[in-house]
Amino acid sequence: MEDQQPTRGQPVVVLSEDSQQTRGRDAQTANIAAGKAVAESVQTTLGPRGMDKMLVSSGSDVVITNDGATILSEMDVEHPAAQMIVEVAETQKDEIGDGTTTAAVLAGQLLAQAEDLIENDVHPTTIVKGYHEATRIAREAIDEQVVDAEIDDDLLRTVAASSMTGKGTGHVGAEALAERVVDAVRRGGEDSVGRDHVRLVTHSGASGAATECREGVVVVNDDQNAPIRDDMPRSVEDATIAVLDEAPDVYNTPQDKLNFTDYDHEVNTVEQFDAIKEGEKRVLQEYVDVLTDADVDVVFNRAGIHSDVAAALAKEGILVLEPLMKNAKDIVRTTGARRVASISELDADDLGKAEYVGVEKFGDDYVISVEGGVAGEMTSVYIRGSTEHVVAELERVVDGAIDVVTATKDGGVVPGGGASELAIAKALRSEAASVEGRKQLAVEAFADAVEVLPRALAANAGLNPVDALVDLRTTFDAEGSAGIVVDGNAATVGDPAEAGVFDSAAVKRKAIESATEAATMIARIDDVITAESSR
Ligand code: ADP
Ligand code: MG
Repeated sequence: MEDQQPTRGQPVVVLSEDSQQTRGRDAQTANIAAGKAVAESVQTTLGPRGMDKMLVSSGSDVVITNDGATILSEMDVEHPAAQMIVEVAETQKDEIGDGTTTAAVLAGQLLAQAEDLIENDVHPTTIVKGYHEATRIAREAIDEQVVDAEIDDDLLRTVAASSMTGKGTGHVGAEALAERVVDAVRRGGEDSVGRDHVRLVTHSGASGAATECREGVVVVNDDQNAPIRDDMPRSVEDATIAVLDEAPDVYNTPQDKLNFTDYDHEVNTVEQFDAIKEGEKRVLQEYVDVLTDADVDVVFNRAGIHSDVAAALAKEGILVLEPLMKNAKDIVRTTGARRVASISELDADDLGKAEYVGVEKFGDDYVISVEGGVAGEMTSVYIRGSTEHVVAELERVVDGAIDVVTATKDGGVVPGGGASELAIAKALRSEAASVEGRKQLAVEAFADAVEVLPRALAANAGLNPVDALVDLRTTFDAEGSAGIVVDGNAATVGDPAEAGVFDSAAVKRKAIESATEAATMIARIDDVITAESSR
């Protein structure tokens, strides 16, 4: 334990004998090294030719992914500075759904540059100020890069595909999935798209190519949600739908309905027994009558319908599905039905409508779809894949792509393949001169840091990163734009916009912002106190 003498103006820190304190340059160096190390661990996954990583957690669950945020969150990162990089990726993923690797890699490189600056006696506070200045310039450069084109479905598909390439979409192909994603976001008309109207439903046991977008609700369940009788229809077109909370059970029906006074009364005579049977029949018939009178084709019902009721409904060709609890809200939203507590309360305007209600059976699983509901609103991406791992990864990928497409609709696109980063670096270098004092050095360092992204894309695609960067800069100066274009197995320096490689501007803005935030936070820490127990 060194340097424990309190100096004037500094808080007196009383530490237990076991805790360890690292200060100043040492603390910074350690933090920066930890942050850099974590960022570097995902660098090889950047871009369409990035490598997948297989992660085995202590519970021996296996996750195979190319997604930066997933890799980082599955890694057992303990160091607080390294943990900040993990948080950058997680925030990026939560808020915008893509650009997680970009953000983490950039944060690491900003730290590496900060380390050099600190070595050269630039104070961390100056670096922080310079980096903030640089993000302002970078944001403007991104705005200028926004492609002046209408955001049509083709463009959205390109962005969705680019956000998914190299992410374990397998032979489904990013293009096919991109179409489903754009479909999902666009459903319900140009303006009524909302993220919360889209559900992802995963179901393993079939090829990923069977993944599709369905207008409505899809429910997958093993042996639940089955039609409760085999003689009920498996599909209904143009369905009238009732959503009931009641569990119709003749034997639990209120006594007044049974029309005799003492239901629990001991049955002593044949007359009494017959009376009970009669009463039950009447209640059963009332239940069926209400539904047939209202022309109901499908009943979503809470569990527990009595078998006699079910048999009577089957005879009328009515499909009963239960239990509905988990999905009741979505079914109501898409069909326009109102959930009623009891059959006696069912009115005509409580009923919903859908073009199609169907039940498919796959092995032990039942899949229910409610499609083309009159209220619209819900859209489901029904994700298939051979195994649980595959569908889980596809779900992550599709989920991110939906966020990106939603963000892109509003924020526009910039050329991908590192082109926007090169433009940012160029803008930073040309504006650095007008930044006063040592902050200028930090702005230039930021430019160098941003170029890690095209460099990593080139390296991951099999190009020599140094040659590629030189080539990129020359082409950029000559053509006004340049980037790495990966097409199948070939990687070249070219014009990504021409090749149809675009990134969401919102993703780029957010990545720069969150990377800067993490890097500056880490660089500023110059005092780390580690308690014995946490070492
Ligand atoms: P992130 O987690 O940051 O989104 P990705 O692994 O998805 O990381 O890689 C994104 C980068 O890959 C972006 O810079 C994007 O422009 C680039 N990219 C995507 N498709 C291509 C392509 N066909 N050619 C070149 N670059 C591409
Ligand atoms: Mg991506």
